[in-house]
Amino acid sequence: MAPRPLIAGNWKMNGSLKSLVELKPIAEAAERLRPRCDVLICPPATILSASHGILGSAAAVGGQDCHAEASGAHTGDVAAEMLADLGARFVIVGHSERRTDHDESDAVVRAKAEAASRAGLTAIVCVGESEEERKAGRALDVLRAQLAGSVPEGATPDNLVVAYEPLWAIGSGRTATSADVAEAHALIRSELSDRFGPAGVAGIRILYGGSVNPDNAAGLLAIDNVDGALVGGCSLKAETFIAICEAVPDLREPASAA
Ligand code: PEP
Repeated sequence: MAPRPLIAGNWKMNGSLKSLVELKPIAEAAERLRPRCDVLICPPATILSASHGILGSAAAVGGQDCHAEASGAHTGDVAAEMLADLGARFVIVGHSERRTDHDESDAVVRAKAEAASRAGLTAIVCVGESEEERKAGRALDVLRAQLAGSVPEGATPDNLVVAYEPLWAIGSGRTATSADVAEAHALIRSELSDRFGPAGVAGIRILYGGSVNPDNAAGLLAIDNVDGALVGGCSLKAETFIAICEAVPDLREPASAA
């Protein structure tokens, strides 16, 4: 059975206490859409606890990054355990903006995903090729290498979500073609399956991310092996984020909670 889709919002470095007003309608929609999809908001760490307080059990909250260590002399960093302490159930690791802005290697991303698992969180491991790599016909090789380097041993549907985010599609208004998304997601499923066995991997969610909006969401979510979306810009406003959640096809049988 296909996993229940997950629609995840990544607020990036946006949002303040004022933005919490967006969360009440998202909580109401998530409650209404519960049989169709799981909903997750990853706000900045500064408002994670307040977000959890508003979303309650209707939708999950997650961090946007974590340190690999549980504690220590790492000024400004946040441990996975600290996110869990605030009510987080997920954490994004290896987002391309972290890989680029902070030079995060696959090994660093893997250590962060391991930390997430240690803290009882589900890691959303992001992978994706650059435009140059796609044009050079290397997209699938890049994905293979990122998966091999970033995904820890012992992946299960409880500790891992993979997000395929072509770098050139993030925040650009451009999305990958359906054929390219289908090919990338099939490759990701097959790489995970080769490594961890087909049984457990069937339940691991593979999200598409990159300029998902209310107009293109239904088409993207209908592609094979697309088990949800990681949404940046359109997650900042309840109206557009809810419209994306509503685009999840009402076909799949309910699975376990996010
Ligand atoms: C993202 O930041 O993960 C993302 C997909 O952003 P956007 O939806 O704005 O392209």
